[in-house]
Amino acid sequence: MAQVAFIGLGTMGYPMAGHLARQFETLVWNRTASKAQAHAQQFGSRAVADLKATTQAEFIFTCLPTSVEVESVVEQVLPALKPGTVWIDCTSGDPNHSRRIARRLQEAGCDFLDAPVSGGKAGAEAGTLTVMVGGNRDTFHRALPAIQAFAGKVFHVGDVGAGHAVKAVNNMLLAIALLSAAEGLVTLVKQGVDPAIALEVINVSSGRSFSTEVHFPERVLTREFPNTFSLALLAKDARIAVSMAREAYVPVPLMQLAAEMFEMAKQQIGGDVDHTAVVKLIEAWAGVEIAPKGG
Ligand code: NDP
Repeated sequence: MAQVAFIGLGTMGYPMAGHLARQFETLVWNRTASKAQAHAQQFGSRAVADLKATTQAEFIFTCLPTSVEVESVVEQVLPALKPGTVWIDCTSGDPNHSRRIARRLQEAGCDFLDAPVSGGKAGAEAGTLTVMVGGNRDTFHRALPAIQAFAGKVFHVGDVGAGHAVKAVNNMLLAIALLSAAEGLVTLVKQGVDPAIALEVINVSSGRSFSTEVHFPERVLTREFPNTFSLALLAKDARIAVSMAREAYVPVPLMQLAAEMFEMAKQQIGGDVDHTAVVKLIEAWAGVEIAPKGG
């Protein structure tokens, strides 16, 4: 019996499955099969053409765009799943959707953990991702050695859905930080301040964030906006965060506004660009670019 299987070799899944393959016999399946074959060549995993072949594994990982695709693959393999299999979903998914998937798996005698990750492409390649896991504690401990293959830090944060809930809020905080930093910096450019110097100041002052420390210097000032995490995926995370709040009757005006702005950005500049490209929209409204003076 293969120990692990990985479904979804995208920006995140490809390197995550690579770390697993260094420690475990690993089956890989991807919608575009050539990526699974390339993975097998690069990491010594075993590419499978038939999705159902992944059910040979004790632990099945998914890292797909949304819970919709996860549910679809679960339904396709469900009749072939062996009781005792643990499904570990690293997608940034929807907590309610995950609870439904977990119930379906439970009917087949299988367990589900939601285990979304943070740390981006670089963290996935380095094997240092932060993983926030929801689900049964015993199942969590059973799966932990496999999860640790690609993780720096692993947290058990609650029952099924809790991992996805924490991830959605984390990414909402990222969305708000990006938007607020962009508004602040276009204002400073209008004041004649070099944004490179402004960022140096902010990054040793109380207004700093991951966005000002990493995204703006590396992606915005350079004008490179390398696409490692799509705007459409961050818009999806923001939507999940708002829907969780709505469901609990929590007023979240800032979160709603940020989610709307990401939807607007998706319509205007497209979802396939990097999430940091949302800054271009705020620049366009201000009529300035956040670029270093003379740079
Ligand atoms: P990518 O778009 O790079 O990869 C998506 C993967 O899902 C690909 O393997 C793709 O296959 C597969 N896929 C898409 N649609 C389907 C479908 N209908 N059926 C089967 N497979 C499908 O996404 P990421 O790796 O960037 O993101 C994956 C998840 O991780 C998302 O939930 C995202 O929010 C989250 N995440 C992303 C981070 C990042 O920095 N990129 C950081 C942290 C979390 P194919 O190769 O055929 O297109």
